[in-house]
Amino acid sequence: MNEKLCTCKSKKKYSDCCEKYHLGKSNCENAQDLMRSRFSAYALTLVDYIIKTSHPENICFQKDLKTLKKDIKSFCEETLFENLEILDFTQEKKQAFVTFIATLKANGKDISFTEISHFEKIAGKWLYKGGQLFEGSRKDL
Ligand SMILES: [Zn+2]
Repeated sequence: MNEKLCTCKSKKKYSDCCEKYHLGKSNCENAQDLMRSRFSAYALTLVDYIIKTSHPENICFQKDLKTLKKDIKSFCEETLFENLEILDFTQEKKQAFVTFIATLKANGKDISFTEISHFEKIAGKWLYKGGQLFEGSRKDL
């Protein structure tokens, strides 16, 4: 049993939170859970999980897979994933939006951003399609 707290900052134990998604034992029931599990996957450098949960039309697939994996890996390793705050979540049958603030640091510099992320459900699975990014913490969005 893994007693560590989940890196998605839910304050739940990892084993009660995102671990089942990362291990592929369970699919996220909603886009907010998927968003959280992607954040924790970044914090844990789970590159394949990030790729697996990206929508085929996501802009990241403009890179070849090898470059994409390398880029995600170095981003994960260079970044401190300090906090995640969900501001808004709306979900319809096949579309969902999650607005969140990601508090991040890289090389001692604050690289936090606010994102309105867009998810689509394909074949029963929520996937990250893309997002609108704003620098810093933007609670006004
Ligand atoms: Zn979690």
